[in-house]
Amino acid sequence: MYDVKLVREDFPILSREIYGKPLVYLDNGATTQKPRQVVEAMVDEYYNVNANVHRGVHFLSQQATDLHEASREAVRQFIHARSMSEIVFTRGTTESINLLAFSFGEAMVHAGDEVLVSVMEHHSNIVPWQMMCERKGAQLRVIPMSDEGELQLDALEGMLNERTRIVCCTQVSNVLGTVNPVKEVVKMAHKWGVPVLVDGAQSAPHMVVDVQDLDCDFFAFSGHKVYGPTGVGVLYGKETWLEQLPPYQGGGEMIQKVTWERTTYNQLPYKFEAGTPDYVATHGLAKALEYVSALGMENIETHEQALTRYALKRLGEIEGMQIFGKANEHDAVISFLVGNIHHLDMGTLLDHLGIAVRTGHHCAEPLMRRLGIEGTVRASFALYNTTEEVDALVEGIEQVRRMF
Ligand code: PMP
Repeated sequence: MYDVKLVREDFPILSREIYGKPLVYLDNGATTQKPRQVVEAMVDEYYNVNANVHRGVHFLSQQATDLHEASREAVRQFIHARSMSEIVFTRGTTESINLLAFSFGEAMVHAGDEVLVSVMEHHSNIVPWQMMCERKGAQLRVIPMSDEGELQLDALEGMLNERTRIVCCTQVSNVLGTVNPVKEVVKMAHKWGVPVLVDGAQSAPHMVVDVQDLDCDFFAFSGHKVYGPTGVGVLYGKETWLEQLPPYQGGGEMIQKVTWERTTYNQLPYKFEAGTPDYVATHGLAKALEYVSALGMENIETHEQALTRYALKRLGEIEGMQIFGKANEHDAVISFLVGNIHHLDMGTLLDHLGIAVRTGHHCAEPLMRRLGIEGTVRASFALYNTTEEVDALVEGIEQVRRMF
C-alpha cells in the first residue's frame, strides 16, 4: 500500500505554512522538493568524504570517486541503459541537450540538412537546435499536434526524408501533460536511419523509463525534477552514437593525452565530462533514485495517475474552466485558464492561499502561439501530493472566481 501521509514525513518543507496557510506545493514540473534522505546524504558527503574525484590516490579521493561512479551505475539502472559508458553527467536537461546539439551538429549536420522537433517542446529542446541549425545552414522543422494536444504521427511520417538528421521530442509535455508515443516516433525515425533524442525532463519523475525498450538514441533528464539536487542531470546516448561525436567542452578529465601539437580524448563517458563534476550532487541524485525506486516507480505512477484523474474531474466542474491538453495519455501536469481571469492574477491570488502553482508560457512560447494564448496556470503533481491538496486548489480557484 502506498502511504502518502508517511511519504510526506520525509519532506520537511511540506509542513511549512505560507501566509498562515498550509503549503500546497503544486509546482513540481518546475522542481520537486527533496526528501531528508537526499539532503542528509549530501551533507554527510561534505562533512566526511569531500575530495576531488578521479585524480587522487588518497583515501578520500578514492572514496568520493567510488560514490560518484556508483551514482552513474544507479542512473544506468534507473533508465535501464546497457552500459555505464552511456551515462554522461551534465548540469541538467538543458545542458544535456546543448551538449548533444553542439557535438551532433559538428559531426553529423551539414548545410541543407533537416532537424525535426515537436511543436510542444520546451525552449531547452528548441533553442540549442535552432542555434546549431543556424551555424550549420540546416533547417529546423516542426512536427505538429492535434487540437487535443497529441503529436501528429502521420505528419511526422511525411516529414522524414533523406535530409533528416535527428528527431527531438519530449516524452511528456511540461504544459499539456501529453504523454507522447516516443516508441512509435523512434520506430518511424529508425526506418530512415535517423536517431531520436527524447527529452525526459517531465517523464523520468513519473514513470518507469527503459531506454532500451524505447530504443531511443539519446535521453536527457534533470536531477532536480526527480527529487534530487539542482546542478546535476544526465545525457544518455547509445555508445555507437557517442563514440562518433566530438567533445563538447575541453579541460580536465576529458583528455587522454595533451601536447602542444594535439590532444587525444578520454574514453566514454569522460570524453564529455570536462572539469570537476558536481560529485556531491551526483551522490544526491543516486539517493533520490534509490528513494523513488524503494517506493516503486509503478506505485508512484499509479498514485499520480489517480490524483490527475481526480484533479481533471474536479477542475472540469468549475464554471468557465478551460483545460489545455486533452490527450488520452495524460501525465501529472494540468494547464488551465478560468473565464477571462489572467493567469498571473490567478497564480498570485492562489499563492496568498498557500497554493504554489506556475503561471506564464512555461518556456514553451511556440506552443502558446499554437494554442492562441499567452500563458496558462499550471498545476503539476508529485509523489507526495494528496486529494486534499487538489480539493484545496479547487476551493482556491472558486474563491478567486467569486472575487472576479
Ligand atoms: N524540458 C522539459 C520538458 C522541461 O519541463 C524542462 C524544465 N522545465 C526542461 C527541459 C529544462 O530542464 P532544466 O531547467 O532542468 O535544464
